[in-house]
Amino acid sequence: MAATGTARGGRAVVGAYPRIVKDPAALPVAPNLADYEAARRAFDWREARALLDGLPGGQGLNIAHEAVDRHAAGPRAGRPALRWIGRGGAARVFTWRDLRAETNRFANALRGLGLGPGARVFTLAGRIPELYVAVLGALKAKCVASPLFSAFGPEPIATRLELGEAEVLVTTEALYRRKVEGLRARLPRLAHVVLVGEGGGGTAVPGTLDWGRLMAEASPDFAIPPTDPEDMALLHFTSGTTGRPKGVVHVHEAVVMHHVTGRNALDLHPEDVFWCTADPGWVTGTSYGIVAPLTNGVTNVVVEAEFDAQAWYEVLERERITVWYTAPTAIRMMMKLGAEALRGRDLSALRVLASVGEPLNPEAVLWGVEAFGKPFHDNWWQTETGGIMIANLVAMDVKPGSMGRPLPGIEAAIVERGADGAVSVVEAPMVSGELALKAGWPSMMRGYLHEEARYRKCFAGEWYLTGDLAMRDEEGYFWFVGRADDVIKSMGHLIGPFEVESALMEHPAVAEAGVIGKPDPVAGEIVKAFVALKPGHEPSEALRRELLGHARRRLGAVVAPKEIDFRAGLPRTRSGKIMRRLLRARELGLPEGDLSTLESDER
Ligand code: ATP
Ligand code: MG
Repeated sequence: MAATGTARGGRAVVGAYPRIVKDPAALPVAPNLADYEAARRAFDWREARALLDGLPGGQGLNIAHEAVDRHAAGPRAGRPALRWIGRGGAARVFTWRDLRAETNRFANALRGLGLGPGARVFTLAGRIPELYVAVLGALKAKCVASPLFSAFGPEPIATRLELGEAEVLVTTEALYRRKVEGLRARLPRLAHVVLVGEGGGGTAVPGTLDWGRLMAEASPDFAIPPTDPEDMALLHFTSGTTGRPKGVVHVHEAVVMHHVTGRNALDLHPEDVFWCTADPGWVTGTSYGIVAPLTNGVTNVVVEAEFDAQAWYEVLERERITVWYTAPTAIRMMMKLGAEALRGRDLSALRVLASVGEPLNPEAVLWGVEAFGKPFHDNWWQTETGGIMIANLVAMDVKPGSMGRPLPGIEAAIVERGADGAVSVVEAPMVSGELALKAGWPSMMRGYLHEEARYRKCFAGEWYLTGDLAMRDEEGYFWFVGRADDVIKSMGHLIGPFEVESALMEHPAVAEAGVIGKPDPVAGEIVKAFVALKPGHEPSEALRRELLGHARRRLGAVVAPKEIDFRAGLPRTRSGKIMRRLLRARELGLPEGDLSTLESDER
């Protein structure tokens, strides 16, 4: 994977779009970030840690205490902590005081079942309030919380429950009947299944417990036991974009990162109303869909329904969302419908738009300005890093197509691997190489569950190697090139799929694009693109030629695709990422590999 070299491409993205200039004085942002370099110099992890309370009496650090109890004991106790918007118009509001009582009940219930520190508590549910209560309650009882995505089929569920040594599963009756009941024999460790009854009625499914009864019988008072910041807290499975998903271990100390990045990257302030569209089945939906807003004392809006542009705009308007954290896949779907779909909406409350999960095409950043009057702030991180690492900070100019700059406290570099496996930092700007981070921030993974060798392979000396390729410019902004596995080598050049996809997306007919390398006897690989069109455009030979010509003009002959296929949609993980490895496997007739996280697959 020695994929370092001067990127041949980069022209379609880097510097091709004017920067979006910010006037820090005019922004209601954390003032310490207006001067980026000074903020970096001044940053100190001990000071960040001091922003949190710690458990009373110096008894350590527990995520749930910081997210719930410390606000429930303070002036925010009666304010809305969680505002839940259910399908079909149902709504529930939990104040911090309510959340404390509910999470205490669940912690007591777990204790009553004989579950102690380290026991694995899984959830398998849509975004219902009980999921949030279960995760935070489990953390209070010092159990390990692991939320699974509810749309998984039985096989991926069984694999994860087995690998994660689940002892408790909180789910709904419908999901249990459909997906779990038949698996129980394979899961001897799974001692307790707790069913959240739909419509509030108790359930009587053999071999299960009823959430309502369990909670009613449990006391609303609970004192969190002493918690070592290094105690395991969360188990998250990666998206499986590049292969078999990994079980990533996070500890209670991660809360320091969730908290400071909530402030520094998402600009959360106590009066904010925050909406993170990610499901807690993915790390974003936990770090930022549960922990960061609550520790920061911000009202956290949770929307049960899946993506629907008009319904989402309705939420933004009605809930007066001020900070919105979403993903490129959703932004591209909104772009498909056009900014006209937003006409007449009052979105004056909206202050910050941010995106994560995949590279954000510059067109999408600019579409934010067109549709919402402000750019999307791209930021980069991984399940392994537990929190945001690199971001277009709110106080700083946005360079469309760039991931931004490392957050204060984070050291990032482009590195090159030598033949002996040692890495060296590439100092020259705009050279593509592996993105590496200097290990040592609080939410860094503590391991891949049961995969010590895979974990060790991520490190070289003091560097954590991310598996992504990027470039750094003179001002310290990082530019995503592609995943190391996805990069294309053609005629001796390295070509990142991201810039080819971004160039194709500039064409008015293109809704999204996925680009792969296809083996070629002369070039090594040629660039092949799969393209989905916007409504109102039909595949045709003429359009294919037009797109090939457009790409050649934008990218030059070496980087532009040689082949374009039209697709109704692109294969996507359930966390919304284009699965290029599947496009490639199909194109080459290779085995399709682990598809446990595959969601949409229109051909
Ligand atoms: P797996 O590791 O199982 O293949 P995954 O890497 O997709 O799956 P996640 O941890 O959910 O699992 O995703 C992290 C990856 O997503 C990053 O390594 C990067 O490739 C991509 N990513 C996230 N945010 C961005 C971004 N802003 N720009 C470019 N890529 C991003
Ligand atoms: Mg990964």
